[in-house]
Amino acid sequence: MTNEELWQATLGEIELLISKANFITWFKNTSILSKTNGHVVISVPNGFAKEWLENKYNLYILRTLKNLDKEIQSISCQITNKHKPSPLKTSENPVDAIIPPKRIIPSNNINSGQISPQSNLNPRYTFENFIVGGSNELAKAACFAVSQNLGHIYNPLFIYGGVGLGKTHLIQSIGNESIKNNSQLKIKYISSERFTSDLIDSIRSQKINKFKEDYQKIDLLIIDDIQFISGKEKTQEEFFHIFNYLYQLNKQIVLSSDRPPKAIQILEERLRSRFEGGMIADVSKPDLETRIAILQRKASLDNIEITNEALEFIAENITNNIRELEGALNRVAVSSQLTKELLDLDYTKKILSDIIASSIKKGINHKHILKVVSKFYEVDINDLIVKNRKQEIVKPRQIAMYLMREELHYSYPGIGSKLGGRDHTTAIHACEKITQILKTDEKLANDLKYIKEQLYLID
Ligand code: ADP
Ligand code: MG
Repeated sequence: MTNEELWQATLGEIELLISKANFITWFKNTSILSKTNGHVVISVPNGFAKEWLENKYNLYILRTLKNLDKEIQSISCQITNKHKPSPLKTSENPVDAIIPPKRIIPSNNINSGQISPQSNLNPRYTFENFIVGGSNELAKAACFAVSQNLGHIYNPLFIYGGVGLGKTHLIQSIGNESIKNNSQLKIKYISSERFTSDLIDSIRSQKINKFKEDYQKIDLLIIDDIQFISGKEKTQEEFFHIFNYLYQLNKQIVLSSDRPPKAIQILEERLRSRFEGGMIADVSKPDLETRIAILQRKASLDNIEITNEALEFIAENITNNIRELEGALNRVAVSSQLTKELLDLDYTKKILSDIIASSIKKGINHKHILKVVSKFYEVDINDLIVKNRKQEIVKPRQIAMYLMREELHYSYPGIGSKLGGRDHTTAIHACEKITQILKTDEKLANDLKYIKEQLYLID
C-alpha cells in the first residue's frame, strides 16, 4: 500500500467515526508525509489542525492506521504549505500557524461592559461566559482561534446547529473578543433577515451604493442565521459581491446557520462553495455535565440562589436546548422571588411540573430503549429479544427491561411481551435484580445515566 492509499483508507474509516463537519474541518487537505520505523508524519495545513489532530483525534487516527498496517506505532503532524489555499486566496504567504494577535492597547471604555459604539453586540455574549463541553468545543475553539487572528485562520467561519444551542452567543463572542484586542475594528453583526430588509430599503430609497460602501468598510462581518437567504436571489447576489470584496482584503466573515451549507435549499452554487471554502463547525445538544455547568454559571451571573439538587433536576429534565434550560431557571427564580420560597428540589419540581417533558410525552417507546441499550453494550437488538442465555446478553436485556419499567412505566407482562414473549416473572426478576445491583455498583449507575442521556437525545 502506498502512503496515499493508506491515508485514503484511513480517511474512509475516520469519516464514519466522526461528524461530517468535524471531518471536513480537520481532515481536509491532510496527507501522509512520511512513514518510517512505525512512525507516521501527517501533513496538515495549519497549527490549528495540528493541535486538533494530535490532541483530539490522535487515538482515532492511530487505531485506524494500525488496523491497516500493524507496523505503525505512533503519529505526529507537521504543518506544510504544500496545500493550495482556498480558491479565492490571493495572499502570497499563507498563514500556517496560529499567529498571536497584534495587541493594540485598548482604549479606556473597553472594559466598561457597554455595547461598543461600532457594533451592536450583546456584551454578555463572551467566551468567558460560554461553557464548553463535547457538544460545542469544536465550534468554540474555531471561534476563539478566529477571534485571535481575524481574516487569516479560517475564512469564512461557518457555525451551524439547532435552535438555542449557542450559535449567536459564539459568533458574537468573536466580535466582543476582537474589540478587546483592537478597539478600532469595524464590526458588523446582523441577521440575514435584517440584511435582506436593509438591502431592500436601500434599493427602494436609491441608496444601494451607500449600502455597499458601508459593508466594504467592515473588518469583521458576522451574519446570523444565513439560511434565511435561501431563495432570495437579489440578496444572494449582493451578498456574494460583498463577500468577495471583503474576502479578498482578508477581512473576516463569520456565518451561522441552522444547517450545513449543503442543506440550505435554493442557494446559489457559487455562494455554497464559498461557505464551504473555509471552516465549518457544528454545535450539538449539550450533555448533562455541560447543562449543569451552564446553569451554575447562569445562576452565579444572575445571583440566583438555588440548591444543587434543584439545578441538577432542571439539567436532567431539560435536555434539548440551552435557551429552554435558561428559561426554566429564570422561571423558578422569578417565582421564588415572588413567593420568597427557598429554591430547592421540591419547589423546582412543583414550578416546572408542566414543562418537564416526561419520556412518555416525548414519544419514547420500548424500541428506543432497545436501540440505545444494544448500541451501548454493542450487542444485536435481535439477541436481546430472542432466547439467548449468554451472560453478555442477559445483563443488557435486564437493563432494557428495567428502563422500560422505570422510564416508560410499562406493566411487567407488557415488558415481557416486548422482549420476545417472556413471562412477566422474568421482567419482575430483571427489574429487582438491577435495582439491587444499582445500590452498590457505581459503574452500572453511571452506565445507566449515560444510557438515559442517549435515550433522551433520540430524535
Ligand atoms: P442559537 O443562536 O444557537 O439559537 P443562542 O446563542 O441564542 O442560540 O443561545 C441561547 C441561549 O443559551 C443564550 O442565552 C446563550 O447565552 C445561552 N448559551 C448557549 N450555549 C451556551 C454555553 N455553552 N454556555 C453558556 N450559555 C450558553
Ligand atoms: Mg441565534
